[in-house]
Amino acid sequence: MSLPAPPPRAPEFGADALIVCESLVRIYQSGPVEVQALQGLDLLVNRGEMVAVVGASGSGKSTLLSILAGIDAPTAGRARVGTWDLLAMSRRDRVQYRRHTVGFVRQQTATNLVPYLTARQMVDLPMTAARVPAATRTARSLDLLGTLGVADCADRRPGQLSGGQQQRVAIAVALANEPEVLFADEPTGELDTATSAEVFGAMRNVNQELGVTVVVVTHDPEVSGQVERTVAIRDGRTSSEVLRRTNGEELVAEEYAVMDRAGRVQIPRDYREALALTRRVRLALESDHVTIRPDA
Ligand code: ADP
Ligand code: MG
Repeated sequence: MSLPAPPPRAPEFGADALIVCESLVRIYQSGPVEVQALQGLDLLVNRGEMVAVVGASGSGKSTLLSILAGIDAPTAGRARVGTWDLLAMSRRDRVQYRRHTVGFVRQQTATNLVPYLTARQMVDLPMTAARVPAATRTARSLDLLGTLGVADCADRRPGQLSGGQQQRVAIAVALANEPEVLFADEPTGELDTATSAEVFGAMRNVNQELGVTVVVVTHDPEVSGQVERTVAIRDGRTSSEVLRRTNGEELVAEEYAVMDRAGRVQIPRDYREALALTRRVRLALESDHVTIRPDA
């Protein structure tokens, strides 16, 4: 008697992606109050992509980025970057991961730089920690500052730099040990429109010239207009994505709802209100689409 064949194993969600978040949950306990900063967030980012993350204040963007940067740990769910499982890292793994796999530009501009060091010395610092030889460090610092368009700032301290220059130096520091991914949390949040465009241009350069995958949180609609994919977070979950493609000469932007593995989709509030969709709706399968109708 032969045993029945085992059921085929489902392929891993996002097996080919560089970054995978699946049903990611982060709960903060502050006193007696529990805050669910992430409530089952799904996100896939492919190698070489540049993705913008948008969402209202408090929607969980910084929480997501600090988890992906290895600074905070998720409460539940799955998070993988490259070969690293972010829920199963030892302290030592975490140091390695933060030093070599990812670069992070924090939301508060001032925390990214050291006031008494020059730009060149700041880019040098993470390489020294990683025991990179001095000659390589010197060459790479100047290269990176050049790529970010701040070669002329190499010997200046943060106090002698404009806001835009400070952020570009911070990005160079984050890239010092050649990470696969750059995470930047509202890097242009404190800058005017023109300066913000410059910093963003520098990040696109990093993505295109160095092949670094970039995930950038922004509230700036101009910025999200310049990337191919914008992911929107609402209440700690990914709710929609906007994809931009060039169609001949024309740039076409199309908004998609995000469906999770169980098939759940969020219907935007204005759609629900327009048709008074409430607790129950009628679903019907058509030959090439699905309809949703009010239960009346
Ligand atoms: P965003 O970056 O989108 O503004 P955050 O990720 O900073 O959002 O915060 C998401 C939610 O989690 C908010 O309600 C915030 O108050 C809460 N939160 C963030 N960090 C902490 C913390 N360390 N302790 C308690 N609550 C926090
Ligand atoms: Mg934030």
